[in-house]
Amino acid sequence: MKILQKRNLPRFILQWGVIAFLLFLGAKAFFVKEFAPNFEAYCPFGGLQAISSYLLNNSLACSMTTIQIAMGIMLIIGIVLFSKLFCAYICPIGTISEWLGSIGDKFKIRVKITGLADKILRSLKYILLFITFYFTLDSNELFCKKYDPFFAIASGFSLDVVWYYAILSITIVVIGSIIFRLFWCKYLCPLGAISNIIKFTWFFAAVLLIYVILLKAGIQLSYVWPLGIAAIGGYILEIWGEKVNFFPVAKITRNESSCTNCQLCSRKCPQVIDVAKMRVVTAADCNLCGECLEVCPEKETLLINKKSGLKWLPPTAAIVLFILGLVLSSNWELPTIDQRWGTAEEIEKGAVFTQSGISAIKCFGSSMAFAAQMKQVKGVYGVATFVSTHKVKVYYDPAILNDVKLQAELFTPQKSEIRALTDGHQSVKMVSCLLDNFFDPSDFTNLSLLLKEKTDALGVESEFSCPVTVRIYLPGNSTLNENSLKEILETKVLSVTTEGKTSKQSLSFKLASQLTFKSIGLKDYKYKMFDAYENSFNGKSNYREAILDTMVVPSDHKTYNLNAVSYFVSHLSNDNGIVGFQSAMDSTSQIYFNIIYVDSLTNRDIIFKNMNNDSLTINYEGGEVGKVINKFKF
Ligand code: SF4
Ligand code: SF4
Repeated sequence: MKILQKRNLPRFILQWGVIAFLLFLGAKAFFVKEFAPNFEAYCPFGGLQAISSYLLNNSLACSMTTIQIAMGIMLIIGIVLFSKLFCAYICPIGTISEWLGSIGDKFKIRVKITGLADKILRSLKYILLFITFYFTLDSNELFCKKYDPFFAIASGFSLDVVWYYAILSITIVVIGSIIFRLFWCKYLCPLGAISNIIKFTWFFAAVLLIYVILLKAGIQLSYVWPLGIAAIGGYILEIWGEKVNFFPVAKITRNESSCTNCQLCSRKCPQVIDVAKMRVVTAADCNLCGECLEVCPEKETLLINKKSGLKWLPPTAAIVLFILGLVLSSNWELPTIDQRWGTAEEIEKGAVFTQSGISAIKCFGSSMAFAAQMKQVKGVYGVATFVSTHKVKVYYDPAILNDVKLQAELFTPQKSEIRALTDGHQSVKMVSCLLDNFFDPSDFTNLSLLLKEKTDALGVESEFSCPVTVRIYLPGNSTLNENSLKEILETKVLSVTTEGKTSKQSLSFKLASQLTFKSIGLKDYKYKMFDAYENSFNGKSNYREAILDTMVVPSDHKTYNLNAVSYFVSHLSNDNGIVGFQSAMDSTSQIYFNIIYVDSLTNRDIIFKNMNNDSLTINYEGGEVGKVINKFKF
């Protein structure tokens, strides 16, 4: 019948627009190696899990973003006002499932699941919802990534995906859609389950409210209880077929006096709801897709809330809520952790210090490490971290600390060798200055790269002051003058080429003082650059001091790069008899390596031979083994 082919055009455009956009992102990621879209960032289901995790643990895992949370909030608003708009207008699995269902219809292989089988199968999505939320809240990581068919395909089966779960869900989506139509959505999708629970708004609000009241009353009830009650209650309400519910506010209504009972609406409904038999569509499956409105041939018969001209409302609301989610997330960021360990009075009287651009704050783990570090500082009563903007807030006692002291606590002094000394170097010029817009270790890395690219500098170091003090070490015979170095330090864009690829980095360093040049001896430079290295391995603590021997070897290696030394030590550790290593510099700036070994397990000849191998065998974290050229000769 031709009329059944009529479609809700705005919905069609939105659904396939989302698919086209995702395909575009996928194609771009395939052709542009640096482009890595986060397909899960806008998932409201991830947002609902993140909101729950945040409320319970007062922290956000790295995989949970403010955008997801904003989308989760918009999903709840959308469901309460307009029903499951995400399912109807945006979800790519829903769109593909509907399309596959139309193939099944074409070949007339659709099987309708009804009666008890339908009722039993509907429980599966609530069980999956319980499992997903339980493991997400337990581990503070998004459990749905393990089996989500969309995430598995979009991420190209990333490491978060358990491939056999994902293959199973993709198979169910494809076969289930063709044979049964919307099988995944109706029976398995945990987002569908939580959306239905929110749709039963009074029940959802009552469960939440009772849980919060019990917690406030000091009854420590596990989240398993409200989660379990919500899942079981949602299932019962769904199969019971709730007849009266004020929410969602917008509903499909049928005017019985003008309806001719042609059945077109029932036949068109993708959710197989018998619209022609209802006065108000209260079925949990209705997502206000508007397809039934499109096919009804009678004027003013099938409407939204008995009002004509509201057909456009659901797709418009879906777009507006999505945009509102984006606006909300760009103007607001939830802290990844927000911890206070001071008393209420201390925090009340305290001050807040904010520092942005700390690149080390990049996930939940680094945030917790930062909190642990700040707990050691007297006068600090709490911290909050914001990983998207690499920002930290520190709650402190102004009688003990001030902003400058806190900056000093946050600052990491660094030194780095840019080029190894050669025999041609007789002396070193030390150039000192104060640099504005320089604080974070990533600023130090960028400065080192800049100096390597544009100068003949040997090394650089930073020291805390306001602004930060930077010392650059040039060869004694360097011709770099004050003006040229000033211009280089204030470079705006740094281009770095690594492995044939060029990347650009914006810089904003600003000189806050004159450059002062001073000549220093080679010995002083070596002292400044040298970092002692010490490591124990192969169960050193199991051996008594008496059976350990030390082989002292002078090193004529010209570099102070700790990586080079750590590679060398990793190579030595392949000999089980070697159990420790230390490097030291004597008063003549000669570097010595002290190799500690068990003489019943190895001997000096074997150690010396290993030290002079042409290549070093490196043991990386995770068990990988690699080889690098041995730059040490003894
Ligand atoms: S009843 Fe109408 S609006 Fe609801 S799902 Fe069916 S076709 Fe869509
Ligand atoms: S509501 Fe419209 S489409 Fe549905 S049975 Fe009545 S006249 Fe037909």
